[in-house]
Amino acid sequence: MLSHSKKTEKVNNIIVSKFGGSSMADANAIRRSADIAVKQGSSVVVVSATYGTTNRLVEITEAADSGNRKRIVELLAEVRASHCAIADDLAISKSSLNELHELLDTTETVAYNLEETARRFRDDEMSGFETDQSKTDQAEANNNLFLIIQRLRDRLFGMGERMSSLLITDHLNHTGHSATCLDAGKVIRTDDRYTHAVPQFDTIEELCELHIHPVIDGKQGHIVVTQGFVGKTSEGYDTTLGRGGSDYSAAILAWGLDADILQIWTDVSGMSTTDPRIVPDAQPISEISFQEAAELATFGAKILHPSTLIPAIWKEIPVFVGSSIRPENGGTWIYREVGKAPLVRALAIRRNQALLTLTTTQMLNTYGFLYRIFRVFNDHRVSVDSITTSEISVAMTVDDKTLRDRALISDLEDLGQLNIEESYELISLIGNNINHTAGLAQKVFTALSDINVRMICQGASRHNFCFLVDEGRGEQALRKLHTEFIG
Ligand code: ADP
Ligand code: ASP
Ligand code: MG
Repeated sequence: MLSHSKKTEKVNNIIVSKFGGSSMADANAIRRSADIAVKQGSSVVVVSATYGTTNRLVEITEAADSGNRKRIVELLAEVRASHCAIADDLAISKSSLNELHELLDTTETVAYNLEETARRFRDDEMSGFETDQSKTDQAEANNNLFLIIQRLRDRLFGMGERMSSLLITDHLNHTGHSATCLDAGKVIRTDDRYTHAVPQFDTIEELCELHIHPVIDGKQGHIVVTQGFVGKTSEGYDTTLGRGGSDYSAAILAWGLDADILQIWTDVSGMSTTDPRIVPDAQPISEISFQEAAELATFGAKILHPSTLIPAIWKEIPVFVGSSIRPENGGTWIYREVGKAPLVRALAIRRNQALLTLTTTQMLNTYGFLYRIFRVFNDHRVSVDSITTSEISVAMTVDDKTLRDRALISDLEDLGQLNIEESYELISLIGNNINHTAGLAQKVFTALSDINVRMICQGASRHNFCFLVDEGRGEQALRKLHTEFIG
């Protein structure tokens, strides 16, 4: 049972534990993760794909888009070989091995289907049409093909989790424990925003009641293993929740089951004052509030998917983040309220940012302009990370892949003069009372006197102060600020 917990009084006896890609990297990692789940008394185990698998599946979709058959064949062979090696090392049962081969075959079928559909899509786009009617027909046919491509992509992306969940379930069972593998699509109902699907919380609560409670209630020691990252639409199409989405899946299930604790097991012993890969002196954080941790995740700390804490906050479920490699080292507890509230708790970096500045004299002494801007972002389902306004302009940061959305850019251009600057990194200081502390900005900019700072955002949040720096200067800024504020 949870040895490093402050809050062990359990109410529903439900712990949801998520194991990320590095915790599922190879047979040993899977053994360690299974062992942790058993010792913790987890009822539900949510797993990511084995390390590197989702990247390979994403690369397959890119190779399909460019018609690179050779690369697809290579990547599929790598996916097959890595899973077969783990299955072999874990000595999984004959029936699980058959199931694994079926999943690998499906992965190949979906990949080649995708390649073929992408080819048809490209061919159709290139062929010219004479009449207005044939142009309309072609546009409709193209939209249909694009929808099929999106569905195939999400089906393919989720295959990694399907295989890893099968491997760990088999391992738990053949080491004397009792586990069942649940298709996450039965519970994680989403809308149809492929690759960034939005969970339908009302339905999910009912589906947890239907598919998970009967399996775990009153059966101490039984573990339901399920896939992170994947969901299903009400029409039965596979979806995914965005890269790194297994954290979010686990939080959604913890919420749906009213769990006592959500555990996120990864490759580091909890959250640190910044990414330890960038600043080796980063210090572990033993406790952090929901608000601060949510800001950290939103503003770039890869350790948690940005939406993870939302369901946990709704039901005040304590979240533990720890290392599956060194579980004995403890980790970070995330609670609604914590004992200490330092001015600067942690720093984060978010890369690949673009700055959009919209200028128009229409803003002078009028109202409704901001509404029109945000309606455009809303219609295009794009989120703005930070924003500043002056009398006649509004500056906003977005992920630079947003710029590929030509329709969004064109709609913004209709509202005023749009200036686009790319290649920035967003640096955030996360803590408490940040908007009420005199002299903070001065301290930041003195520490960064040799780094060019663009848009600054302060005042809106008690927990966040952020600004843009040129691409490639963010890590240096993080190191300097870490020395200045954390030491
Ligand atoms: P998983 O595969 O388990 O989901 P991730 O790679 O997504 O793991 O997240 C863990 C990584 O997050 C760590 O290896 C670390 O480099 C990175 N990270 C970024 N910011 C932080 C932070 N503030 N504290 C700890 N780790 C961080
Ligand atoms: N496997 C997915 C990814 O790599 C989801 C996750 O690991 O959280 O993005
Ligand atoms: Mg992750």
